Amino acid sequence: MTGAIHTDRLSAFFDRLRSAPSRVLFLDYDGTLAPFQIDRDRAFPYPGVPVLIDRIMENGTRVVFVTGRPVREVLLLSGLRRQPEVWGSHGLERLKPDGSYSVEKVSTEQEAGLTQAQERLRSQGLKNRMELKPGAVALHWRGLEPQEIDKLSDTVRHLWYPLVRQYPLDLLAFDGGLELRVRGKDKSQAVAAILGESNPDSVIAYLGDDRTDEDAFHALRGRGLTVLVRDQPRPTLAEVQLRPPQELIQFFSEWLAAS
Ligand SMILES: [Mg+2]
Repeated sequence: MTGAIHTDRLSAFFDRLRSAPSRVLFLDYDGTLAPFQIDRDRAFPYPGVPVLIDRIMENGTRVVFVTGRPVREVLLLSGLRRQPEVWGSHGLERLKPDGSYSVEKVSTEQEAGLTQAQERLRSQGLKNRMELKPGAVALHWRGLEPQEIDKLSDTVRHLWYPLVRQYPLDLLAFDGGLELRVRGKDKSQAVAAILGESNPDSVIAYLGDDRTDEDAFHALRGRGLTVLVRDQPRPTLAEVQLRPPQELIQFFSEWLAAS
């Protein structure tokens, strides 16, 4: 096991965690807990991770998943025995710790735009790369060669840009594709909502890998530790970087030991 995660910043964080009145752990799913797979339905967590997260929840940490995936997919794939809190579809859906579920309403106008987005992909023979989820249509290109990705990205942007102008929708680039979704929804809102519900003395961390997690890093600035989980460095607002899976598992083990 590498000792690389023992930076001063992390040591200070775990010191505070030990005496914290309450603890909140935000987790992205794909690329953070689960390595990317060409088949998205087989994106399971790194071995050892579900057991650690279950134990962290048992020991009283509020674990909150914040993901672009629909809630039900995270529950199916994560391999957890306990049900975590999940904000899915970039915060449009919410499964609370008590099991109650809510999804924000999408306007008729937004539905019309999303339907057109699907039709435009189908008309280009892209149905098998398309994913429909609450409030969004995604186009996935994982597994393609870089030149094919460039070409596909151009095609889809060309198809979808007119819809962004016509409907209250946003076009979002994520690691592995493009997504058209209801305007004004990103991971920062999930973070802000949980901060509003939490004890001001809570010790908090957010672990994520994607560009979409940068919104959450920004929202948590000054209130929690922000962690980029990724092999390669990249420009980020996160304070710390962990290389999965070893440093990730070490982080969870230390979290558990500190609670
Ligand atoms: Mg991710």
